Amino acid sequence: MATRHRKRTRGITPAPLLLALAFLCFGAWVLLRSRPSDVQAPGWVEQQFLTENPWSRPGDKLKEVRGVVIHYVGNPGTSAQANRNYFESLSTGEEDTYASAHFVVGLEGEVIQCIPLTEIAYASNSRNDDTVAVEVCHPDETGQFSDVTYGQVVELTAWLCETYHLKPNEDVIRHYDVTGKICPKYYVDHEDAWTQFLSDVEARLIEGFEKED
Ligand SMILES: [Zn+2]
Repeated sequence: MATRHRKRTRGITPAPLLLALAFLCFGAWVLLRSRPSDVQAPGWVEQQFLTENPWSRPGDKLKEVRGVVIHYVGNPGTSAQANRNYFESLSTGEEDTYASAHFVVGLEGEVIQCIPLTEIAYASNSRNDDTVAVEVCHPDETGQFSDVTYGQVVELTAWLCETYHLKPNEDVIRHYDVTGKICPKYYVDHEDAWTQFLSDVEARLIEGFEKED
């Protein structure tokens, strides 16, 4: 009787294929993780987008989000609506001023979004093209945020960190950290208050966010 030799079918070694696949997946992940598109703002954000114009909403694409920049409006007692309207008023060009922000957080904790997260705002100079700008209203000249405003800035910043996979300690910065401008004033004058803000954002981030439908 002849012994039957079963031929072993040797599959091609999958290692290079797997490696290529892993590489592709990693590439896609890197590309997608900081993509500003398809982001749905939380329910407490009121969207009042500015008219597209060269002075406050140039319509340039925000290609990736690598940070959040915090500002103060520098005009005590003004509301989020007033500041949003100010940005809109710049569109005539009469003021000869370029300025805007993605979000304005008001004295009562209201949040108005002026610019879609797919576009740049004119707020943070050299970091306009890779950051989200948050302007914050304040009751007086010190620039300190009221408790309710502060809480909402923490909430918004933590949500942005969650959405764009940012680290509060590294990626959340002040306008001051970009240009040396004393903005947001109170949190430049009081380094400890800024450190506290970052740890409050971190703590909120750790709590996590419910997925909104
Ligand atoms: Zn600023």
